[in-house]
Amino acid sequence: MSEVINKVLDLAKRRGIFWSSYEIYGGVAGFYDIGPIGVKIKNRIVELWRKYFIRDNNDLVVEIETPIIGPAKVFEASGHVESFTDPIVECKNCKRVYRADHLIEDTIKKSVEGLKPEDLTKIIRDNNIRCPSCGGELSEVRLFNLLFTTNIGPYTGNLGFLRPETAQGMFTAFKRVYETSRQRLPIGIAQIGRVARNEISPRQGLIRMREFTIMEVEFFIDPNDTDINNVPLHRFQDIKFNILTAVEKEKDGKPQEFKLEEAVREKIIIQPWMAYWMAVASNFVKALGINDFYFEEKLPYERAHYSKQTFDQIAIVNGIKVEISGHAYRGDYDLTRHMKFSGQDLTIFRKYDEPKIVKKKTLIINNVKLKEKELRKKVMELINNRSVEEVEQLIKNNVKIDDKPLSEFLSVVEREEKIHGEHFIPHVVEPSFGVERTLFLTVVNAYREKEGRVILSLPKYLAPYDIAVFPLLEKEELIKKSIEIRDTLSDRYDVLYDEVGSIGRRYARADEIGVPFAITVDPQTLVDNTVTIRDRDSWKQVRVKVNDLQISLEKLFRGEALNKIGIEVKDSNE
Ligand code: AMP
Repeated sequence: MSEVINKVLDLAKRRGIFWSSYEIYGGVAGFYDIGPIGVKIKNRIVELWRKYFIRDNNDLVVEIETPIIGPAKVFEASGHVESFTDPIVECKNCKRVYRADHLIEDTIKKSVEGLKPEDLTKIIRDNNIRCPSCGGELSEVRLFNLLFTTNIGPYTGNLGFLRPETAQGMFTAFKRVYETSRQRLPIGIAQIGRVARNEISPRQGLIRMREFTIMEVEFFIDPNDTDINNVPLHRFQDIKFNILTAVEKEKDGKPQEFKLEEAVREKIIIQPWMAYWMAVASNFVKALGINDFYFEEKLPYERAHYSKQTFDQIAIVNGIKVEISGHAYRGDYDLTRHMKFSGQDLTIFRKYDEPKIVKKKTLIINNVKLKEKELRKKVMELINNRSVEEVEQLIKNNVKIDDKPLSEFLSVVEREEKIHGEHFIPHVVEPSFGVERTLFLTVVNAYREKEGRVILSLPKYLAPYDIAVFPLLEKEELIKKSIEIRDTLSDRYDVLYDEVGSIGRRYARADEIGVPFAITVDPQTLVDNTVTIRDRDSWKQVRVKVNDLQISLEKLFRGEALNKIGIEVKDSNE
């Protein structure tokens, strides 16, 4: 594990951001508690995501919540029962189990994602890869299903699964949401919720967990609507993407820069709406403070079973490189499968601008001549399961029943019909973020060290508290004034108040959890009604009038420089 990850894990544990769950029982790999400070940052990240993906698109996107547990049928339909697998390999000696592709990648330093078990076994044999723990021989590679199972109700055999993504909730509820909202495409259905994946080797803190929260949008579109002018790409005029295309990836190439529209017109991104959501994701990730990232196209065999094209958004933070979001063009895979497995009609009606006149062949049955029961049965058996065109061919071929030509009983006529529209299955593009992984990467990205001390340099709007209020000393008048200030600011800001311990330690704690500004009430406050405001990152302090505090803070949160809002204090309180 990288050094910075270890440092962040240590900080997170020390400051109540997150830690291994069930610690008192020794912990269980892949499960993490999010602590009091972590929940505050996490909630702000979730709200930021809501702003970018839902509120800023409220003409297009609605949010729902669906259950974590689903009946087996749903995940049979979605393909997860069959295909949501990872390759594993077991040590024949010590019986430890490893994720085969990761074990190989760690050894030969090359991606083998998506290769078949037999190919992975061959690579293991060819490279003489052995158990990293005891050196024992490894078994053949086999597939392991990552779904957690459960039982619904008191009856055995009523198998249920914990959802591995929220997406299936949106697919199964699609028709209901469509009918109860604007009844027009495109429509996005968003969900933020817990999911579970029985990962084989959870590792690196919150990066690979067994239970986590996902924020995703299933965005339903009309596949015939291919006019890119109908996609509001103009909202992101200046955006450029760094994309590692599948073609470049196969050549071991590097990400290349594309303008958003160029990536769409050149069909680097095959669905314009996918490009739209990739642009939203870019802005969201930048708002997390992460500016170094690119989109990596998955090769056909690396893609999930439902996907026509997938891009992973890869973030590079403090030297580590991790997928922060996934962007999949799922086509009509999911709705088609759910239609088949549920027997329900999940299509949408596309109304034509003008009704169309179409010629339609209709089969006419001469009931007068088919009164006799046996004869009628024979004719019906012959035409059953045949299209009108096929029956017409039989008539033309002069097929006979009881020595009489079929044309005596049946005829085909062509009529004109007015058609007002047609049914179709919407296509789906999906942007998907893991909340805890996003939290982790945001914290890793914000981690700084200065003069041997730690600062969590989070964007101000993601900090667990907006401001800290401290009395310099534990003296009654200073405490009273501090509480007064805290109470006036609390309406507007999330305020951390602390009066215990040396001021240096309180500043250090506020820095470590990322509080952008600390207000200190000192003896001078009682003389001239001024306080100091200290900046987390520069440690500089200015003195301002208490009466101006609200305005000063507003300016600071708007991004104004500290030295513009007050007189700099040379001998700081530290
Ligand atoms: P996926 O559906 O696999 O594309 O995952 C969507 C997003 O969820 C990823 O981009 C990650 O941010 C996050 N994610 C996936 N697997 C895990 C995991 N095991 N632990 C934490 N986050 C995950």
